[in-house]
Amino acid sequence: MSSTRPGGENPAAPSFRIRAQQLEKLPPCQAQCPNSGDVRGWLGVIAQHKKNKLTLDEAYDKAWQILAELNPLPATIGRICPHPCEDLCSRRDKDGAISINAMERFLGDWAISRSLPLPRAGAAKYAESIGVIGSGPASLSFAYQMARRGYDVTMYEKHEFPGGMLRHAIPDYRLPREILDAEVERVLDMNISLVRNIDVGSSVDLEKLRDKHTLIFLGLGAQGARELGIPGEQGPGVISGIDYLQHRKRQPESQHGKQVLVVGGGNTAIDAARSARRDGASVTLLYRRSETEMPAAAHEVEDARTEGVEFRFLVSPTRIVRDGSEIRELHMQEMRLAEADEQGRRRPVSIPGRVQKIAADVVIVAVAQAPDWEGMGVLAGGQEWLHTRDDGKLDEDIWAGGDDRGPGIASKAIAQGRYAAEAAHAELRGQENPRERSARKAIHNGAVKMDFYSEQQRTVGCRRSQQERLSDPESEIDQTISYEQACQEASRCMSCGLCFDCQQCFMYCNKAGFTRIDETRPGNYFVLALEACEGCGKCIEVCPCAYLEARDR
Ligand SMILES: Cc1cc2nc3c(=O)[nH]c(=O)nc-3n(C[C@H](O)[C@H](O)[C@H](O)COP(=O)(O)OP(=O)(O)OC[C@H]3O[C@@H](n4cnc5c(N)ncnc54)[C@H](O)[C@@H]3O)c2cc1C
Ligand code: SF4
Ligand code: SF4
Ligand code: SF4
Repeated sequence: MSSTRPGGENPAAPSFRIRAQQLEKLPPCQAQCPNSGDVRGWLGVIAQHKKNKLTLDEAYDKAWQILAELNPLPATIGRICPHPCEDLCSRRDKDGAISINAMERFLGDWAISRSLPLPRAGAAKYAESIGVIGSGPASLSFAYQMARRGYDVTMYEKHEFPGGMLRHAIPDYRLPREILDAEVERVLDMNISLVRNIDVGSSVDLEKLRDKHTLIFLGLGAQGARELGIPGEQGPGVISGIDYLQHRKRQPESQHGKQVLVVGGGNTAIDAARSARRDGASVTLLYRRSETEMPAAAHEVEDARTEGVEFRFLVSPTRIVRDGSEIRELHMQEMRLAEADEQGRRRPVSIPGRVQKIAADVVIVAVAQAPDWEGMGVLAGGQEWLHTRDDGKLDEDIWAGGDDRGPGIASKAIAQGRYAAEAAHAELRGQENPRERSARKAIHNGAVKMDFYSEQQRTVGCRRSQQERLSDPESEIDQTISYEQACQEASRCMSCGLCFDCQQCFMYCNKAGFTRIDETRPGNYFVLALEACEGCGKCIEVCPCAYLEARDR
C-alpha cells in the first residue's frame, strides 16, 4: 500500500509552518511478532467491515486470508504461540492488550469450519522441482510458500504423520490433533507430495535428493535430547522429555511412575510435568535458575502450578541413587545466581556443601535439545546448529529454517520457512532479494493518543477448571472465543500508525484539506491536499493513531 500522499503544492500559499503527511508506520504488535504478522491489517478488516461494505462473515473470510498469506497454520499458532506481540500492544497499559492470539485462533477455526482454501499467489507454473526435508512448521511454511507461487514440491518425512513437534510432542490438551490435521491437510492440498517414513541421510542419501530437485529445504528441527551427565543416569526410569512426550502421544494410557521429577525450565519440561500430573503422578520440577529466568511461557508455568506441579528452583542434579535398577532418590546441589552472562541471563553457581535429596521413581530430563545430524553431519560442518545466511541460504542449492538453526518457537520456524521461500523464489526468477522486513518506520512510545479511545475490557476465552483438566486429561483447556466476541475484540484495536476513519482530521481542518475517497478500504479513507493547507498543524494534533505527522522541511 502506498502510504505517502503529499498532494500538489501551491507556490502562492502562505509559508507553511507545520506541513502534514499521511505515513503508515510499523505497529508494535507487528514489530514484536517473529513472523511479522500484519495484525493491524486483519483486525482492521473486521473492525471496519461496515465502513467498507462487508458483512461480518465476509470480513472474517478476508481477515483469515490476510493472516494465512504469512502463516498457513493460524488455528494451530492461535493455540500455542506465546504471543510476544501482545507484550508491547499499545492498548496493554490502558485496559489490556488486544487478544491477538485468541483472535488468530478464532479465525483459524472459522476457516476450518468453512473449508476455506489457502490463498495462492498468482497462476504461474514453474518447471523447477523443490525438495523439502521434514514436515514441521518450518518445512510446511516453506513448502506452502513455494507451492502457492507455482512450484512442484515434494516433502520427505521420517515419521508416518506430518507436523513435527506440533504433532509428536505438544500435548493434545493444548493443541488437539484434529485441528493440526485439518491445517496440515490444507497445506498438502496445495499439490504438495508427502513421502512418509523416509529418513533422509539413512534410508535415502541427501546427495540423491540434491540431484533430483532444483533446490532443497532443510527443516530438520532439534530432535536430539541432551543428557545430564551424572552418575546413575543410565538405566531404567530415566527418560528424555521429548521421548516421554512422544511416547505418551502414541499411548496416552501409558504410566510413567508415581513420584516423577522433571529437570529443566523450558516448554518441554513444563509439558512433561503437566502430562505426568495427568497420569496421576506427584510431580516436582527442578530448575537451576529462578522462576524469572525460565524459558517456558509464564502462563504455562502458572497452569502447571494450578494443576499441582511442585517447583524447586536453584537446584542442579548431581546423582541419581538406585536400589538395584530402581530409582530411589535424586541428589541435587543448591545454587545461587551470579552476574549475567553474554545473553543477559544470570549464571547459576553452586553453593559449596549445600546438597538436597528428593525421593523419585522416574526422572524426566528436559534440559536441552539439539539437531540430530545422523547421515547429514557434513551440512553442519561440525557445529551444533546450522549457520545459514540471514534469509536461510546454506549452500548453492540448500536452504534451511526452524529449530535446526537454533532453538525457537513455532511462529519463528514459520517465519524462517517463509523468508527462505521468498528469497529462493526471487533467486530462481532472477529477481531482487525481498527486503520487506526492514522498510517501515516504527511508532515511537506515547505517539498513540490513548484518551481518544473509550474503555473496553479485553475479551478472553473460557478455560476448563483444574478439576475438569485432571479428570478429562486430554481435553483442550482453552476454548475459542465466540463470533460476537471476535468482532468486539477487533474493534478494540487502535490501528496504531494507520488511518481507521475516525474523521478527526476531516472535521478539524478549517481549509478542507481532507477529501473522502469514494472506494475506501482499511487505511485508505482520505486524500490530503497540501495546496489547501495553511500549516496550522491541527490535524496532526487530533490524529489519535499517529498516522498523520509533520513532514521534514
Ligand atoms: C514439548 C514441546 C513443546 C513446545 N511448545 C511450544 C509452544 O507452546 N509454542 C511454540 O510456539 N513452540 C513450542 N515448541 C517449539 C516448536 O514446536 C518448535 O520450535 C517447532 O516445532 C520447530 O519447527 P521445525 O519445523 O524447525 O522442526 P520440528 O517441528 O522439530 O520438525 C522437524 C521435522 O523433521 C523431521 N525430520 C528430522 N530429520 C529428518 C530426516 N533426516 N529425514 C526426514 N525427516 C526428518 C522430523 O521427523 C520432524 O517431523 C515446543 C517444542 C516442544 C518440543
Ligand atoms: S504469531 Fe504469535 S507473535 Fe505473531 S501475531 Fe500471532 S500470536 Fe502474535
Ligand atoms: S492496538 Fe492494534 S495496532 Fe496497536 S499494537 Fe495493539 S493490536 Fe497492534
Ligand atoms: S485523524 Fe483519523 S481520519 Fe484523519 S488520518 Fe488520522 S486516523 Fe485517519
